[in-house]
Amino acid sequence: MKQGSILTLKIDNIGSDGDGIAMHGHTAVYVNNALPDETIKAIVTDTAKTYAHATLKDIVEKSKYRVSPRCPHVRQCGGCQIQEMDYNQQLIFKRAKVVSNIEKIGFFQNANILNTIGCYPFFGFRNKAIYPVAQNSNGEIVAGFYARRSHLIVPSQKCHIEFDESSKITKEIIAHIKRYNIQPYNESEGNGIVRYIMIRKAFATNEIMVSIVVNGNTILHHKELVDNLVSTTKNIKSVSLIVNCDNTNRIRGNEVIALYGNSYITDEIDGIKFRISPLSFYQVNAIQTAILYGKALEFAQLTGNETVFDLYCGVGTISLFLARKARKVYGVEVIPQAIDDARINAEINNINNIEFIVGKAEETIPLLVENNGVKADIVVVDPPRKGCDKALLSTIIKMLPQRIVYVSCDSTSLARDLRYLCDNGFSLKIVQPVDMFPHSVHVECVAMLEAVR
Ligand code: SAH
Repeated sequence: MKQGSILTLKIDNIGSDGDGIAMHGHTAVYVNNALPDETIKAIVTDTAKTYAHATLKDIVEKSKYRVSPRCPHVRQCGGCQIQEMDYNQQLIFKRAKVVSNIEKIGFFQNANILNTIGCYPFFGFRNKAIYPVAQNSNGEIVAGFYARRSHLIVPSQKCHIEFDESSKITKEIIAHIKRYNIQPYNESEGNGIVRYIMIRKAFATNEIMVSIVVNGNTILHHKELVDNLVSTTKNIKSVSLIVNCDNTNRIRGNEVIALYGNSYITDEIDGIKFRISPLSFYQVNAIQTAILYGKALEFAQLTGNETVFDLYCGVGTISLFLARKARKVYGVEVIPQAIDDARINAEINNINNIEFIVGKAEETIPLLVENNGVKADIVVVDPPRKGCDKALLSTIIKMLPQRIVYVSCDSTSLARDLRYLCDNGFSLKIVQPVDMFPHSVHVECVAMLEAVR
């Protein structure tokens, strides 16, 4: 099989990253945006010993689950890998992915994995936009999305999964950059100023926060930029620079310079107010977050007498939900600014039975449990993609809470951690997939384990 050759293939499977898979002799060929049961033509882009990648060219026979995408960039952009699949089928695909990981990586058989809870509407749900800024090959400054498996930017006029104002604000910033010849950051040389544009909207209050990630600590004529932004878009409550001078893939740095308004916006979920600042993590799906947290709370089965740990707590979102139903909650999070926000969040909601601690969960919890003698009845964890640190899991195992609620954005690390917990005194009761990221291959899960006594 040669690079550049055109193959006619019958797709008979779908991979975890959403590519259709066809066998060509003994070679598995992965084709973007091709669906199971389709016959397609594709151009081979790269080959290895047992597999190859190919780009979809024509659909000869289409799947009954194929839908017309809303976005013209769907085949180039790395964001919505399965936007051409009917939404119900996306939910089925996501559950199947979770089942496969729980069985193959976690070695569970017949685990109780529920159907994926869908997100309605499944467009316009995202409360955060992040656009990389760069100079493309013909010298034009663009903001958009990374193309699949690359750092080339696909310029975007409008992203349909985001809120309406994001593209207008981005255009305004790009116009300012062009007007004053401000250089975008150049990844390979590590020079230039503007790296990313990040815009967040609090759906409950409509407040908008604009942040520009810069390699430096200023941007030319920023007063004029702020005036333009604020006068053309309603509800911009915060404009800031985020300093990131490191030559890495990390988007955000550690320092925020306020240019206008507050350094935060306020959102509300299920009657609880949340203050969000540029550096803190906040769930990106404005519609599903209440459902996700509601499931975490339901699975925790609180009666009002419990001590609860909320580990990897961000700005204290789940912690505050839990605190309304528990005796005492401890929230642990590594980013100091997020804990500042978490403490303010507790205060503005008059929630007093909560204590927030800055630190790595795997370092803080052993100290809290072993030195201070604190014991949790219920532990909630919501780690980043790589899952929980083993030192943390070992402490939880020793402490033996009644129940663990595990919120996960990656079912491979979830499966691994569930196996470790179930080999050491816990039993897996339920896994609820929740679709926080429609049209992408990602799926969030809430799992619940109980101590075996
Ligand atoms: N539960 C929160 C945040 C979940 S995201 C919410 O739903 O909004 C995961 C969080 O874990 C991030 O805020 C990240 O900063 C934090 N984090 C990453 N590694 C950590 C560690 N080792 N210890 C504690 N927190 C960590």
